[in-house]
Amino acid sequence: MNYGRDVGGLAPDSLIFLQRFHSGEANMSDIPIRPEVRAFEPYTAGLSIDEIREKYHLDRVVKMASNENPLGVSPVVRRVIAERAGLAFRYPQAGNPKLSAALGARHGVSADRIVAGNGSDEIIDLLFRVCATPGVHNAVAFRPCFGLYPTQSALCGVELRRADLNPDMSFPWERLLSLVDASTALVFVTTPDNPSGRAASRQELADLAARLPASCLLVIDEAYMDFTDDPHACSLLSDMRDGAPLADRVAVLRTFSKLFGLAGLRLGYGILPPDIADYMRRVRLPFSVNLLAEEAALAALGDETFRAKTLEVTRAGRAMLGRELAALGCRVYPSQSNFIMFEPPEAVDSARLFEDLLRRGFILRPLGGYGLPRHLRVSVGTAEENEGLVAALGELLRSAA
Ligand SMILES: *Cc1c(COP(=O)(O)O)cnc(C)c1O
Repeated sequence: MNYGRDVGGLAPDSLIFLQRFHSGEANMSDIPIRPEVRAFEPYTAGLSIDEIREKYHLDRVVKMASNENPLGVSPVVRRVIAERAGLAFRYPQAGNPKLSAALGARHGVSADRIVAGNGSDEIIDLLFRVCATPGVHNAVAFRPCFGLYPTQSALCGVELRRADLNPDMSFPWERLLSLVDASTALVFVTTPDNPSGRAASRQELADLAARLPASCLLVIDEAYMDFTDDPHACSLLSDMRDGAPLADRVAVLRTFSKLFGLAGLRLGYGILPPDIADYMRRVRLPFSVNLLAEEAALAALGDETFRAKTLEVTRAGRAMLGRELAALGCRVYPSQSNFIMFEPPEAVDSARLFEDLLRRGFILRPLGGYGLPRHLRVSVGTAEENEGLVAALGELLRSAA
């Protein structure tokens, strides 16, 4: 069953066929299930620490699979969450106006262009539902790309067209543009990219935006932008001030899950053209950003110490891992993010290496789901975690050689 992707491209007749085809499966009720749902291939998340600890009887497991902050939750934010815990019986204020105002001020845009969501995942989902009509519009992204673009386009019944990245994971802009037509509602670019870690330049993004039809929204997923050596040279955000031409045609996505260490609280946001932001606020579920997440985010935005420490640990760890992986004979892809993608030496079986690392308590991310069966992705950890991983990899690769 592999037609979960791009299902929106199928004619209605084929969808009815698929529906019938599946009606033979066991334990099916007579309740109708949408064909997009039957064919849906769920997002694969990284393995959890508890799972691996139990399976391999380990005391300590280091998760380097989901690009979380290795420093955990900032002490300042921890205190605020504890102080506000007693407010958890209240509904949050609808529309999170305090948070939108703080984020608007942070990015120099008006608050009415900010929409916060239950992770930036929710904003991605809303973009499909607000902008793309099933069976009419299409969306365009690279391949491989972040897993949520294919899942949410499939669920919404919107065709997703994919342009293969170059073998070195650089961005083939012409190939992307060749898929865009008058029915393209959304074009997704992740920069720095996941899973490669590569960042586009601000000029490349400005050129792309200029060449897209005015009927198409360029969505730039900047989940990892803060980790780049020079965000100003990589982000289009400063060209998106209120009233600037790009402010009506480009959306930027950011998240509190990575730099701010709040993945478990679920909070992300979009900086959007004002009309799209307005429609999104109308249609989204009213309280998807919970009260403690909003309080935590406001505290995190003011916590410059934690932010600086995270950047320092990430950049130093990225340099160290890149150097050491290359020294062990791995092919390392240049990363501007808080993770590194690499291929083990030719002679080594990647799946086996991944398993052997699990056995030693290190969870990495295998990239078979991204169509890269030989590649692994490792999130930058603390200095101690990085050193532990390099030591384990060293032993495994030397014994494989
Ligand atoms: C982690 C990540 C996000 C953030 O997701 P949240 O829902 O905010 O946790 C968004 N885009 C990409 C490419 C990511 O890797």
